[in-house]
Amino acid sequence: MSWFRKEKQPLEAPKEKRVQTEGLWVKCEGCKRILWKKDLAANLQCCPQCNYHFKMGSRARLEMLFDDGRYTEHDAGLASTDPLEFQDTKSYRDRLAKAQKETGLKDALITGEGRLAGKPLIACAMEFRFVGGSMGAVVGEKVTRAIDRCIERKLPLVIVSCSGGARMMEGAISLMQMAKISAALARLEETRRPYISVLTDPTTGGVTASFAMLGDLNVAEPGALIGFAGPRVIEQTIRQKLPEGFQRAEFLLAHGMLDAIVPRKELKSYLARTLDFMGAWNS
Ligand SMILES: [Zn+2]
Repeated sequence: MSWFRKEKQPLEAPKEKRVQTEGLWVKCEGCKRILWKKDLAANLQCCPQCNYHFKMGSRARLEMLFDDGRYTEHDAGLASTDPLEFQDTKSYRDRLAKAQKETGLKDALITGEGRLAGKPLIACAMEFRFVGGSMGAVVGEKVTRAIDRCIERKLPLVIVSCSGGARMMEGAISLMQMAKISAALARLEETRRPYISVLTDPTTGGVTASFAMLGDLNVAEPGALIGFAGPRVIEQTIRQKLPEGFQRAEFLLAHGMLDAIVPRKELKSYLARTLDFMGAWNS
């Protein structure tokens, strides 16, 4: 048995002199045109040619919704303890550390409190880059706390979902979040404060099966993939071919699963208008 561990020296590639062009351009999934990332960012991550909605980061999302991009963040320090000490191809602990480093976030959701069109509200935004925007104990706790704050302070709630579903590395603990959040939303309903769910591409699994579909209004961005299980799993289970456009926002709206499809550029004014209409700020 060895008493010490020798750290392997990282292999370093010889440094090359190259002009950095990578990462400046991106191909649009909608029209296949090559877009300059700066143009895309200036256009709220929507293609200037075909209006294809790219994924938007959680920070940018909250900045877009709140007046002057300003908000107070709540529960920023909550982080997973890896309760199952889960390991697949790599350890969950390492996965978390990597995601935290890449995103600068502790987990896959940010809660902000600020003003929208001059009126106070709490909004949560999910971060897809953090383990696929999956919901574990931290996301569940943060959403529940956001709801509790809305109840206490009589504020409306907006949650922008972007998620692959429950976080399998937290097993049953992640599934329990569905019930916990749903129960909290039922308490919010008693206070007559509205909750608007905004579903973005993609919103699937346990997030769709809980809070994303429990809004007083459920609205989606154009073209968003929304579902529970993936199309392949469904086709294999029911042994039928699925119809064209299945699980896209437009299909769901036509079949009564959504209340509206709202383009990103109109989202803020839409939320202000509908929350006001719903009496969100009446005493
Ligand atoms: Zn395009």
